[in-house]
Amino acid sequence: MSPTPPSTTPNTLANKIILITGASGGIGRCAALTFAQLGASVILLGRNLKKLEAVYDTIEAAGGPQPAIYELNLQTATPHHYENLAAAMEAEFGRIDGVLHNAAELGKLTSLRQYSPEVWQRVMQVNVTAPFLLTRALLPLLQKSSAGRLVFTGSGVGRKGRAYWGAYAVSKAATENLMQVWADELEDTPIRVNSINPGATRTAMRAGAYPAENPLILKTPEDIMPTYVYLFSDSSGLVHGQQLDAQ
Ligand code: NDP
Repeated sequence: MSPTPPSTTPNTLANKIILITGASGGIGRCAALTFAQLGASVILLGRNLKKLEAVYDTIEAAGGPQPAIYELNLQTATPHHYENLAAAMEAEFGRIDGVLHNAAELGKLTSLRQYSPEVWQRVMQVNVTAPFLLTRALLPLLQKSSAGRLVFTGSGVGRKGRAYWGAYAVSKAATENLMQVWADELEDTPIRVNSINPGATRTAMRAGAYPAENPLILKTPEDIMPTYVYLFSDSSGLVHGQQLDAQ
């Protein structure tokens, strides 16, 4: 599904509190800057404080609503860490209007026969287990929103498995299913749950997967933002359990 997102205004996301994982770079950083520009208070979650602070400073310099930083390594975080995160968000914001599950690990591009069990575990932890635990911990705060939004991040190789994409492909298929299970379970609530496949986008992850590719032929994170904004806006209230393509 790839709808034509309606045009945005500077108030499209006004007064919304949106947490973004992997906000330190690539698509997550761009989503944080874009959402703040449209009025949202963004919570920047990531493992690299310096990079998160740089995003924070950029938002402040642009005059956006004051963001927040939450440092967390999704690879090592335990359920206890997520409970602490939820308690901190409750104390600071009282509710959450949206979560963008964006952070991911590419892992290694190699055959399953040669795939390292350690890398497999790491990719599954960051790409699948972390979004599950984070959603579970934040659900009470999302339920306090009149229009909560959960957005998961898929990938073409999650829709159809491809040789040498290993744990990443498997994790992205699991992500789509995780989205669908949450969507089904939250059907009768105001929370809307969907996923986005960004498509080939000019980021460090894409460059790692396709080192010989000319990045200038690719869409930029800015180019694909309309679909992201749409899913967090009030206009997408009827969209639920869908897999959207950002390109
Ligand atoms: P990047 O590698 O540029 O950014 C990934 C982000 O995730 C970074 O902020 C990174 O933090 C963060 N991250 C990775 N591991 C962890 C961790 N253990 N704990 C906390 N944060 C972590 O990737 P993209 O922006 O390209 O990808 C964003 C999403 O889009 C991903 O889910 C990806 O799978 C998906 N996607 C991207 C495509 C593309 O062409 N770019 C195509 C299809 C899907 P740090 O800065 O510390 O490394």
